[in-house]
Amino acid sequence: MKETKSSDPSLEDEDDDDDKLVVEDYHSDDEASKCDDDDSKEKEDEPHVTKIYYCSRTHSQLSQFVHEIQKSPYSETTRVVALGSRQNLCINETVKKLKSLSLVNDRCLEMQKNKKEPKKDQLQKKAKKQKIPSTGCPYYNQNNMDMYKDSMAAQIHDMEQLLTRGKELKACPYYSTRYAIPGAQVVVLPYNTLLHKSTREACGIHLEGNVVIIDEAHNLVETISNVYSVEVNGAQLCRAHSQLSQYMEKYRSRLKAKNLMYIKQIVQVLASWIRCLGGRIGCAPDTQKTGPASSKLFTINDFLFTTQMDNINLFKLQKYCERSHISRKLNGFVEKYQPPMVKIQEPEEPQQTGMTRFLQEISKKTSEKKEEPQVLEKIDDEYQAFSSPLLHIEGFLLALTNADKDGRVVISKQDFLSQSRLKFLLLNPAVHFQDVIKEARAVIVAGGTMQPVDEFKHQLLYCAGVQEDRIAEFSCGHVIPPDQLLPIALTTGPSGVDFNFTYQSRDTPKMMDEVGRVLVNVSNVVPGGVVIFFPSYDYEKLIYSHWEKTGVIARLGMKKKVFREPRKANQVDFMLGQYTSIIEKACSGGVQSGGMNGAILLCVVGGKMSEGINFSDNLGRCIVMVGLPFANIKSPELKEKMDYLNATMPSSNGKTPGQIHYENLCMKAVNQSIGRAIRHKGDYATILLLDSRYARSSIQSKLPGWIARRLQTIQKFGPAFGAIRKFFVERRPTSSKADTS
Ligand code: SF4
Repeated sequence: MKETKSSDPSLEDEDDDDDKLVVEDYHSDDEASKCDDDDSKEKEDEPHVTKIYYCSRTHSQLSQFVHEIQKSPYSETTRVVALGSRQNLCINETVKKLKSLSLVNDRCLEMQKNKKEPKKDQLQKKAKKQKIPSTGCPYYNQNNMDMYKDSMAAQIHDMEQLLTRGKELKACPYYSTRYAIPGAQVVVLPYNTLLHKSTREACGIHLEGNVVIIDEAHNLVETISNVYSVEVNGAQLCRAHSQLSQYMEKYRSRLKAKNLMYIKQIVQVLASWIRCLGGRIGCAPDTQKTGPASSKLFTINDFLFTTQMDNINLFKLQKYCERSHISRKLNGFVEKYQPPMVKIQEPEEPQQTGMTRFLQEISKKTSEKKEEPQVLEKIDDEYQAFSSPLLHIEGFLLALTNADKDGRVVISKQDFLSQSRLKFLLLNPAVHFQDVIKEARAVIVAGGTMQPVDEFKHQLLYCAGVQEDRIAEFSCGHVIPPDQLLPIALTTGPSGVDFNFTYQSRDTPKMMDEVGRVLVNVSNVVPGGVVIFFPSYDYEKLIYSHWEKTGVIARLGMKKKVFREPRKANQVDFMLGQYTSIIEKACSGGVQSGGMNGAILLCVVGGKMSEGINFSDNLGRCIVMVGLPFANIKSPELKEKMDYLNATMPSSNGKTPGQIHYENLCMKAVNQSIGRAIRHKGDYATILLLDSRYARSSIQSKLPGWIARRLQTIQKFGPAFGAIRKFFVERRPTSSKADTS
């Protein structure tokens, strides 16, 4: 393979003006942050018209929104552009078939770099003389992309149409859509592109004076925390260390002194992180034992101190990474040399004093405990899919530049180094949301299950400096008439057992039998699909095996085909297809007395069915929520978040902010799950909440208003069963199709 420009250290930036360093960008492995090539910057000069940025969680939700505009009276007069990732919009077959988004991004950028004419830079001219080949992507053609951009102004394209049009015009849809942003009146984009500052800027998104709509915002706090929380594993650290060390050795004499210093610092940092995970430099990470499993949580400053990074200027180091594009250069270098994981001499320990040395000695003692190398049976190849582990690590480096109080670092040791991880947790998402609020003219945060909103306002708005009088709240009812939904909070089962699904009592055979009785009865009278949500996979597994032994599954099977949520994502579509087909067959002739009347699906809250899958019409005539899915209170990460909230926010109604957060996490998960039914104005369903705690007003107040207003709290199973039977007798089922979004 030919050497690419990116592997040539002579092309590294010259202007390391340290005094002017201002860290603004978040250099992550997010796909769009990599579109910051020269062309994007040239296009940024185009004037922007006032616009609405509409963002949602998934590409299919964005497509739905585009379809709605297409159907509306505004379709002829509105210029709409839908943005997507390269993985969604690339039409170069050789690039799009690459395994990961990261590889697609790297390959595309590499091709654009190769195609561009070198600029004034003398060293680049030298590279040209060396006949670096022009292997740019044929779809990156400026004339064709301009034509494409014009056609987008004349007609609204959804994702499919963008791809088709791109192929017709031989123009890249990914870049063409970005070039069309300035003239667009509505820009449709995924969450990350909006919420991630450097991605936003790299894509040429200007929020000033524009309206931002964030849809499906029920988990916005968690989403922002996740976007800025970064995790690196031992395998990535070892690989980055190995690659960068080789790069440094090969080009040591040609690197500028300052650049060499930064590279040395990164190598030193990587080595230090590997050691803090209990690993050693130069050994394959999948054979190094680092267990037993343990987790330790640090403040940012404590972590820097422990890993002897307290004397390194992270801002400068991060800025160097950003300016020099070292991770991309490393990529080109790796492409050429294809090195295996090689043993590199561990760098000398930096001179340390006092407490640092003391901590260092403790760390040494721990890592000196030698274990026989043992090969993992199944090597996690996640890290191999990353073309540039350093790029990922840069994100972690930048995360450490957050204020000490706003984040924590978890050192999580597993059996082997390759699985051990460093994780940065963002505790204060408002610091990253405040730019959006400050810049935009108005921000509309919308969702079908936004309750409870108080915590949202505290964590994202007040913390970002928004005054109460600038917040307008609007809540409307559901489109369905009141009698099309029957929500019931049921506190006891058919044989009078109190429904109390706390950790202490939910595993008892008595409780599991009682849930079985409810389901067998409900299955007899509810036509079509019954979807049951359990608080965890473990509990679903436990109850299923109990029901198998006690005959509940067989009894359920007489009325409904029983399905279980698959653990693997790639099996979901197949399972849903079967579920739909059974229900359609059963419902096509109406409820068949004595025969199968549909299907029952056992799912898990927070699993693959609790979000993004619509159980409309017959697919979800009854949603059953078993218990309250509280998170594990002993989780160090949750504890830290609760402590942070307790320290920074006021108590309310005698509850600490930590407790409120804990309850809200649970109720948001409940709301998401039960919101899978009732998907349009003609739909109808019953929701059964099994747990005596659902009778509490504090819990009911956290349900969406349109459910809480209709909720009946029933103490005995008989009346509840009667109400359900009556509800369905009065209605006749209609056929439907599975709708995944
Ligand atoms: S320029 Fe467009 S079509 Fe070509 S590789 Fe990049 S994303 Fe794919």
